[in-house]
Amino acid sequence: MEVAAHRSSAFRIAGVSSYRGGVTFERIIREHRPGCVCIGAASEMSKLRKSASELGFRLYGGDDGLCDMICECPADTVVNAIVGMAGLRPALISLETGKNLVMANKESIVAAGDLLKRTAKANRVSIIPADSEHSAIFQCLQGRSAAEIAGITLTASGGPFLNRKNLRSVTPKQALAHPLWKMGPKVSIDSATMMNKGFEIIEASKLFDIAPDRISVVIHKECIIHSLVELTDGSMIAQLAAPDMRLPVAYAMNYPNRIQAPGVNALSLKEINSLTFEAPDERKYPCLELARLSMKIGGVAPAVLCAADEVAVGAFLKTEISFENIYRVLEGTLSSLDASLKADPGDIENITAADREARKKARNQIRKMRA
Ligand code: MG
Repeated sequence: MEVAAHRSSAFRIAGVSSYRGGVTFERIIREHRPGCVCIGAASEMSKLRKSASELGFRLYGGDDGLCDMICECPADTVVNAIVGMAGLRPALISLETGKNLVMANKESIVAAGDLLKRTAKANRVSIIPADSEHSAIFQCLQGRSAAEIAGITLTASGGPFLNRKNLRSVTPKQALAHPLWKMGPKVSIDSATMMNKGFEIIEASKLFDIAPDRISVVIHKECIIHSLVELTDGSMIAQLAAPDMRLPVAYAMNYPNRIQAPGVNALSLKEINSLTFEAPDERKYPCLELARLSMKIGGVAPAVLCAADEVAVGAFLKTEISFENIYRVLEGTLSSLDASLKADPGDIENITAADREARKKARNQIRKMRA
């Protein structure tokens, strides 16, 4: 919203959606005066009816309402920042109705990247990543041919537990306290387990057609280099900027042009002084290997991993399972679904079925852990 407000001559907000609504959402509606508004939770619908008649916007409700809004809203770009698999249908509808997609919902790409890309191509629209690492790679890849690309290095902040020896008895509060990025609960926990970086390996592989074994992860706790592309002659191209999501969002919204992102200034390298890099401890963060394994299995395995992770992270936040058991739920769900993992991920029915099964299996395991 800040990026759009900053360039109000170029952007008009046609529609907005939120699951729970609230004070910020209502302020956004009053400030940006969108013609369409969608609210996810049925319990919040009545509150917005009054402002709908006062401000004259069209009100939509629920998951189906969101899809209707995307269809009917006169927009040429959709910014999808929904958390988890709930973002998949809205992403597909955006592309099917000829809208460019600024994508901050990585789970959809992980679970259904091939399907999304095919849909974008068929409808002659683009998917532009807003995830900071993928924005960095996308920026580094501009003007390059596939033959020039040798590999990708994703940088990782290391999360809140970089200097902690073991992850036993970690509490939700500790796991939610990310040192640099201010994010929602799901991605903060994913960042603490490094499942987030695992998903980003899959996301990069799907978005940029690069084999997972050519994607590496390095811990770079300053979060200045947002990722790197390695070229066939040994050169590495990096994108550096202050750790501020307004930059990748502004780049994605204005692509292929650049604007000054609101509140983001050029870096002072003299002040930064030094940048550090270290290899991630794969034993401490087994979710990284799990992500690679799901890519190796292929089919709907990444979708299964996404679904199980939503359930496991939810259970951890409710203190139903320990931090370390998040990994165990993921690993257990993946191995319990062994035979059905090979289904074609290009079919939405297969993805939905895998998602449903994975959630069921993950819940079963959580129940057993609690017993
Ligand atoms: Mg990221």
